[in-house]
Amino acid sequence: VRNLWVKLPDEEDYIIRGFNLTIHAGEVHALMGPNGSGKSTLAKVLSGHPGYEVTDGEVLFRGEDILEMEPDERARMGLFLAFQYPMEVPANFLRLAYQRRFDTEIKYTDFYKVLLQHLKKLEMDPSFAGRPVNEGFSGGEKKRFEIVQMSLLEPVLAVLDETDSGLDIDALKIVSNGVNMMRSPERSFLVITHYQRILNYIQPDYVHVMVEGRIVRSGGPELALQLEEKGYDWVRGELAGATAP
Ligand code: ADP
Ligand code: MG
Repeated sequence: VRNLWVKLPDEEDYIIRGFNLTIHAGEVHALMGPNGSGKSTLAKVLSGHPGYEVTDGEVLFRGEDILEMEPDERARMGLFLAFQYPMEVPANFLRLAYQRRFDTEIKYTDFYKVLLQHLKKLEMDPSFAGRPVNEGFSGGEKKRFEIVQMSLLEPVLAVLDETDSGLDIDALKIVSNGVNMMRSPERSFLVITHYQRILNYIQPDYVHVMVEGRIVRSGGPELALQLEEKGYDWVRGELAGATAP
């Protein structure tokens, strides 16, 4: 992501303000930041959400500029987004997504078997497979099911937007396990989180702090611990100091 500027179509103020980030194959990056810093907006823009206007910058994925591509084209290339607030989608939708991702045809009965295998691998309740995706799921169940979807679609880059929030400790372990199982030299992750807690289970290679639409600080896992200790006012304070006349 190079010098990305994003706003709402009818607004003048920018939400993403000159955002830069490079993620290489196999890397796990954590993106932290206070509420309203633009983390979810970034995730949505990466996936191709139509509600935002990109006025400047580039997003290169596997060497191609994806900003002009439709969301499903990006998904076919292996981009996956787990939403902060997962939506209810018809069960068949997941099968169609699978067919698109792997350029194949699969009957529902066969797809059901594949789904069961993934649930088993992730140590999740097989009864999940019999329920329409996310319909009537609790918040925590939806988050867990996002990980099933990720496992199923074998992304090249998975963006997880606060998949940890609202999870109890058991669910957090299941979600983290899923990510850790899927880590590979070919696959990358952008783990967006407000809290350090999930990073006790998913060890990131890099940690970035986003404030007011851009990364203000990057480091290793120790940065997350420092943030936990000192709070976001710590980086905000430094930012204010740096921009003061
Ligand atoms: P974060 O995920 O870091 O908490 P968001 O990306 O959700 O932050 O939001 C960043 C800012 O942009 C917030 O002030 C939010 O209210 C605003 N914003 C984002 N999307 C919309 C939208 N669709 N309509 C109105 N305001 C929005
Ligand atoms: Mg958010």
